[in-house]
Amino acid sequence: HLSERLIRVAEHVPGGAKIADIGSDHAYLPCYLCIKDPNLTAIAGEVNEGPFQSAKKQVEKSGLTARIDVRRGNGLEVIKCGEVNTITIAGMGGGLITTILDEGKDKLEGVETLILQPNVSADMIRKWLLNNGWILNSEEILEEDEKIYEVLVAKRGNDESLYEDNKELKLLLGPFLMLESNLAFKKKWQFEVENWKRILTQFDKATINEQVEQKRKNLLKRINMVEEVLHR
Ligand code: SAM
Repeated sequence: HLSERLIRVAEHVPGGAKIADIGSDHAYLPCYLCIKDPNLTAIAGEVNEGPFQSAKKQVEKSGLTARIDVRRGNGLEVIKCGEVNTITIAGMGGGLITTILDEGKDKLEGVETLILQPNVSADMIRKWLLNNGWILNSEEILEEDEKIYEVLVAKRGNDESLYEDNKELKLLLGPFLMLESNLAFKKKWQFEVENWKRILTQFDKATINEQVEQKRKNLLKRINMVEEVLHR
């Protein structure tokens, strides 16, 4: 039984893929994928001993040791160049996911699909993709157990047009998610806007110098931009 969040990640994995699931913890995702798709093989990467042992146990219990190789190491260092064509990284912050991709850039040769599921700061990933030769192919946002998650899928290529008109806003909200503007999306950004408004009132009380004033203006601009999308 897999969480809805990981099922959504799994749905984007191409048939027969050779995947690396980085930060795999119990290796639930690769196990699920292998059971569903007899042609799929996986590497489950884990940096920490506890989760690494959990992953090994789960793979053995599932009878999948021939198809899932559990490896201990930091980020993409567990894979050799050309070994996989798909990478999944789920359940971490966008900052950490971006660091893992950036530090492992040389290992991305031959990788065609990235499926990334940040818990926060998805905008950092969108920026990294844009600056490193990846096109955002699709996005999802969902709510599970009162938390909101995003899933970003990227393929090789360059496409600045995705962020035309308002790059800052589209990097923040996600170009596809903005268009769809589903319930989870609205809920997430309404919550963020409320937060920013609270911060804004603190600014109003603070002694105004030029630097503070600039920050206040930027925040106000962001609030207005996001509210405009929410009220469409
Ligand atoms: N991917 C699973 C999921 O989505 O349910 C597990 C998410 S868990 C919150 C994050 C896992 O990533 C932890 O097991 C942690 O040990 C691992 N991790 C964190 N940083 C890592 C890194 N640099 N390389 C490999 N694994 C890492």
